[in-house]
Amino acid sequence: MLDLELANIPKNLAEIKLRIQENEVLFSREPHSVFLLAVSKGQPIEKIEAAMLAGQTAFGENHLQEALPKITALTGKKLEWHFIGLIQSNKTKKIAEHFSWVHSLTDRHIAKRLSEQRPPHLPPLNICLQVNLSQQQSKQGVPINQLEELINYCVGLPHLKIRGLMAIPVPKETFEAQRTEFAKLSALFYRLNENKHQLDTLSMGMSNDMKAAIAEGATIVRIGTAIFGTRTS
Ligand SMILES: *Cc1c(COP(=O)(O)O)cnc(C)c1O
Repeated sequence: MLDLELANIPKNLAEIKLRIQENEVLFSREPHSVFLLAVSKGQPIEKIEAAMLAGQTAFGENHLQEALPKITALTGKKLEWHFIGLIQSNKTKKIAEHFSWVHSLTDRHIAKRLSEQRPPHLPPLNICLQVNLSQQQSKQGVPINQLEELINYCVGLPHLKIRGLMAIPVPKETFEAQRTEFAKLSALFYRLNENKHQLDTLSMGMSNDMKAAIAEGATIVRIGTAIFGTRTS
């Protein structure tokens, strides 16, 4: 790791926060309605510490084995950890113990285990359901036609708090094309809320499509590379 990369982190973070603010204004979003999750997967702990010293408190990881040593080393720092990756059922206990949020829930079995294994002294685990927008079976996420059924199931689980939806759309080059993808997720979100659900979170937008996601109502953007540089693993 280059020292230069570490030194850039506070500047990168400040730039991203400024872009978020500018986009909130540009797209008539409420001030501070977009939350920044710093995606630290594939990055060494020194970079997380650099971001932490610059005031960042929420970090996203997608592999439990990689995340646990980081979380353990930073215990007591008042950080908030978000799990954003594929969840294997033998990993649910540790996820329920160490994370505040899961953005990538896609099935009942995992939901039930996460709720049962959430330690009772902790607040309910915040959950976003990951939606498969492309309707391709190969893609990760709940198919759109099974979404409401899964939400209804999860709402009945005592140690989960269902917050909203997450998606990773197929990469698109232009702002307009990216916007079209995110519009699909926000349409689902609004429809569910009209249908009595109380979702408050749209987790969408990464380094290359953050602006389009904010235009379409993102409340959490998940930014890795633009803060930390190229991943090492
Ligand atoms: C890696 C990852 C990100 C961050 O992507 P960048 O392009 O580095 O900003 C966001 N969300 C998820 C689910 C990821 O796996």
